[in-house]
Amino acid sequence: HSKEIKQAFEEELTNLGIKDEVGLVLTGCFGLCERGPVIVIYPDETFYAHVKVSDVKIICEEHLLKGRHIDRLLVKNPLDRNKIKQMSQLTFYSKQKRIALRNCGQINPLDIDEYIARDGYLALGEALTKMTPDQVIKEVLDSGLKGRGGGGFLTGLKWQFAAQSVSDKKYVICNADEGDPGAFMDRAILEGDPHSILEAMALCGYAIGSDQGYIYVRAEYPVAVERLEHAILQAKEYQLLGDSIFGTDFSFNIDIRLGAGAFVCGEETALIKSIEGFRGMPVLKPPFPAKKGLWGYPTNVNNVETLANIPVIFLKGADYFKSIGTENSTGTKVFALGGKINNTGLVEVPMGTTLREVVYDIGGGIPNKRKFKAIQTGGPSGGCITEKDLDTPIDFDNLKKLGSMMGSGGMIVMDEDNCMVDVARFYLEFTVEESCGKCTPCREGTKQMLDILNRICDGDGTLKDIDELEKLAHMIQKTSLCGLGQTAPNPVLSTIKHFRDEYIAHVVDKA
Ligand code: SF4
Repeated sequence: HSKEIKQAFEEELTNLGIKDEVGLVLTGCFGLCERGPVIVIYPDETFYAHVKVSDVKIICEEHLLKGRHIDRLLVKNPLDRNKIKQMSQLTFYSKQKRIALRNCGQINPLDIDEYIARDGYLALGEALTKMTPDQVIKEVLDSGLKGRGGGGFLTGLKWQFAAQSVSDKKYVICNADEGDPGAFMDRAILEGDPHSILEAMALCGYAIGSDQGYIYVRAEYPVAVERLEHAILQAKEYQLLGDSIFGTDFSFNIDIRLGAGAFVCGEETALIKSIEGFRGMPVLKPPFPAKKGLWGYPTNVNNVETLANIPVIFLKGADYFKSIGTENSTGTKVFALGGKINNTGLVEVPMGTTLREVVYDIGGGIPNKRKFKAIQTGGPSGGCITEKDLDTPIDFDNLKKLGSMMGSGGMIVMDEDNCMVDVARFYLEFTVEESCGKCTPCREGTKQMLDILNRICDGDGTLKDIDELEKLAHMIQKTSLCGLGQTAPNPVLSTIKHFRDEYIAHVVDKA
């Protein structure tokens, strides 16, 4: 709808003769998907939600010409039912801290000048002219930034390993193969702020001694691909990519490679195989890509959200970044909030924010006065967290302790109407479908687990089946080759742990 609304604005502004006085910018995601399409009018920051093409005329005539708010398009504050006029007054935004998403919804992603106006490419310029590669790595290490793609490994350490590998050829890869059901953080960043990724990749190239980067992005993200292609061309035009960047002897190029939507290609070794032109299948580690990666050369792979944080670490300093979040998990995390929640959308919160704040303050609670039941973090690799643990501060360690994980940032809320056995089955069906088939525990084991789950859901299960599920799950966790198989049983194990009674009800009720 956004494009149609933009077109309607163009026509209406022309009709009213004010086209040259009003800047019209199509931006990336604002985060509050539930209320889209969204229009923000500056300088007063008026936030209009659920805008339709038919609203454009009145917005132009009443708001732009006469300065009157269109009441029915304002968002209601759920607490006092008052209408909220400005973006910053919405609890949805006021509890968030936007670092990775800092430019999304703020700039025109197709215009490099808008990125530059917000200090874009300044971090790269400063680093290239004033810092050594070792100092760049130290800054990232000092920030405490950990990989946002799921693993939670220290980004600076990864860069250091790649830098220490001696080779005349090295590669930087941006992993944009976002595959978790319900997750769309990376997509929003690529669509809303593509230059931040290019800048971060160039910084990494300088740090590790690489002159070539690849962005591996899902072909199902055509807008992201289009904007990346456009951004690369613009950056080359401005000599921010290519030879002799900022007049230094550092050269760096970036090319795009399209993925065909296989979940397993989010695993870095499978991703590398896919770029090389082979079937995307994981290989045994070690050697790690930092030693032997793309075409056998040292390679650093970071995910989109991780990279989006990098320029800020240089602009504001590692200490600033470290001051946000918790001791072991610094900075913020972007979550795709979905399921039974009022404000579905993208949220970015400091690490250490509690799940309760995310669900109730930012997410606006559960719709239709239903009761909260559980929240699944980490997508098909994670687990569910129940009411009793809602006050847990979100960080890498705490989520693991609860039997779930950060993952890439999917957060699905379940209410009292959700059957948790069905939830487990949904995720397991996904991983069975996405298993690459290379190793037996994952290929055969997850299929066996799904057969048992189907039997339980069909009312043909027995109590012994529940024990069998647990046994198989532990075996698959321990013996699978890659993260997909090792984590595939998590949703089943955590639902059995927290909602065993529901499994038993399926067996007993229908026996
Ligand atoms: Fe493939 Fe699954 Fe084995 Fe990973 S664990 S290599 S996805 S079969």
